[in-house]
Formats: sequence, C-alpha cells, structure tokens
Amino acid sequence: QPQFAFAGRSNVGKSSVINRLVGRKNLCYVGNTPGKTNQINYFQIDGKAYLVDLPGYGYAKVSKTERERWGKLMDNYFQDDQGLISLGVLIVDIRHKPTADDITMHNWFRETGCPEIIVANKLDKLKKSQIELALELITNTLELTDEDRLIPFSAEKGIGKEDLIKAITYVHEN
Ligand code: GDP
Repeated sequence: QPQFAFAGRSNVGKSSVINRLVGRKNLCYVGNTPGKTNQINYFQIDGKAYLVDLPGYGYAKVSKTERERWGKLMDNYFQDDQGLISLGVLIVDIRHKPTADDITMHNWFRETGCPEIIVANKLDKLKKSQIELALELITNTLELTDEDRLIPFSAEKGIGKEDLIKAITYVHEN
C-alpha cells in the first residue's frame, strides 16, 4: 500500500492540512514508532493507503539534543522505509522564507528520489497582491523547477484542496 508522508515545521498547520484533506474520521490510527515528542504516527486512509505523520520540526524551544534526535529519527525513517514512501508532502508557511530545516526536509525527499508536493499553507493570511512574490521566494529558496508542484493552500478556508487532491492522485498514478 502506498505511503504518503506529511512533513513540516511545528505550527505550520500540518494537522490542519491533514484534517482538511482526509478528515480525522477517515483516518484509522495504526501505530507509531517509539518515543514521545518525536514519534512517527501511522494512519490508514479508507484502508487504501498509509498516511505517515512525520514529527514537526524546528520548534524554537527545541534543544540541540532534540534536534539531533529528530535528525536521527528521520535518517532511520528514510533508511528503513525509503522504498515504501510513495509521496512526500512538505508543508511550508506561505508567509515565510522556507527555513534551513525545510530545506533539509526537501533535500531528503529529493535525494531519496521520492516524489514531492510542496504545500504553501496559510494563504488566507496574505493579501492577493503578496501571493506571487511569496511563491517566488519559496520557489527560489527550495530551488524548485517547473517539474516541482507547489500548491498555495489554506487549511483554514479550504483553498487549494482540489489542487492538492489532484496532485496526489496524479503522482500516485504515474
Ligand atoms: P501543526 O503543529 O503543524 O500540526 O499545526 P496545526 O494544524 O496545529 O496549526 C497550527 C496553528 O495554525 C493553529 O492555530 C491553526 O488554527 C493555524 N492554521 C493552520 N492552518 C491555517 C491556515 O491555513 N490559515 C490560518 N489562518 N491559520 C491556520
């Protein structure tokens, strides 16, 4: 079964995006990796695919040790489950330049050859006139090409949901 892995920095709205996309009631919890703050949660969507909820990163209060633990966990995850991840969904905040951790995460997907969709969340917080520049900043910082999929999204308003579903379906079928 395909695995869709969702990643993003803490508070970027990862849970909200997942909720908007599938709804908690359609997710069946199937387990987690050991650990408290850094655990990876697995859900099953309609018995058809796995949704992998990767731990949020880059929280300001997090210590160096915590950061290193996160890095190790991700290393292990990508080593063990690499072949299984069908798609990475990287969630960033449309208002901000992607962080060093975002870039690390993005490179993890890229270097493992994992197809990736980038979701620029919290679109509703920008004025229309600011959107183009914001997307350009994300594109340049993550060094995205025409082949990369960058989807403006608002988990709060539900904007971009159809585009994201289409992109996931497309990647999944190709
Ligand atoms: P997580 O830590 O990445 O799982 O983030 P959450 O889903 O818990 O969201 C963090 C905060 O951002 C919450 O207060 C959400 O209500 C808010 N939030 C999430 N998505 C959006 C969005 O698209 N627009 C706005 N305005 N707020 C959002």
